Amino acid sequence: MTIHVSNKDIVQEDFGSKILGIKSKPDNEVCCDCSCGETTWASTTFGCFLCINCSGVHRSLGTHVSKVKSVTLDSWSLEEIRSMELWGNKRVNNMFESNVPSYYTKPIEEAPYEYRLEYITAKYIYQHFVKSAMPPPVPINTPLPNLTGSYKTTPKKSSTKKASQSLRKAEPNKNVGQVEFSGILNIILKRGIDMKPMNTTTNWLSDPYVILGAGPDFNDCMNIHPGQLSKSEVKRKTLNPEWNQRMCCCICSLDTDVIHIEVWDYDKLSAHEFMGEYHLQLCDLDILNQKDQKVNVCISLQSVERGCIELEISYHSLK
Ligand SMILES: [Zn+2]
Repeated sequence: MTIHVSNKDIVQEDFGSKILGIKSKPDNEVCCDCSCGETTWASTTFGCFLCINCSGVHRSLGTHVSKVKSVTLDSWSLEEIRSMELWGNKRVNNMFESNVPSYYTKPIEEAPYEYRLEYITAKYIYQHFVKSAMPPPVPINTPLPNLTGSYKTTPKKSSTKKASQSLRKAEPNKNVGQVEFSGILNIILKRGIDMKPMNTTTNWLSDPYVILGAGPDFNDCMNIHPGQLSKSEVKRKTLNPEWNQRMCCCICSLDTDVIHIEVWDYDKLSAHEFMGEYHLQLCDLDILNQKDQKVNVCISLQSVERGCIELEISYHSLK
């Protein structure tokens, strides 16, 4: 029996073994973005090897941002092979993670899609972890419509309370990488009700957004878990914003952790203004211990004369 093999097949088979060889190098053995899983996927745009979960996030960003290929199933061109050989995970991270702020941590193996998306977007699209780039004041779940304005503006607070200011001013945390999370809080930010009007010179409306973080002690900014701050979308010209936005954070303990919630008024040209805050003790929501239980919470914002926020919270144990 004769087997006819075309030149094309030979070339592709050669490249297939070549890419497997590059993938098996020690630097490329774990995912470039989460350091977990098997690197059976790759971004040919950045030249890095990825796990299946992070490759899904890269794919969702579009091929104009990151072109994803399977190491074993797809065919590879010579240029792509050269790019993977030239870069690889170590070199990519030396560049794109050369200056990761202390409040960001790499996604863990069980990290939800939202957190991977947030990290990968910050890493590659905004390049906030590149040494010369300006880091954002806090991690965000969803990019604000006007990125430059939002990142270059540091919120100014009218209240004298210090706890919430600390959300943005956390010093480098020496415990980065040592935090052991017990579970993930899935928080649906539903809506705001009768919030304070901030644009009093024009339309008596506000452009509210919410910052949310979890930690064991809201009086001590150092105790906010690194990477556990999320930022909602800005809702324009409203006192009754409808978000219905999912915001996740990992927590260490249902008994001692607190959710820190702040509302701010977005302003493209000047400092953002404070619209209220709340510290929600998770131990008060003991129903969270029940599997798949969702808790609806309506909080009256503190340090401000009016405004409520509605949340739906559920807890997913990692143990
Ligand atoms: Zn990964």
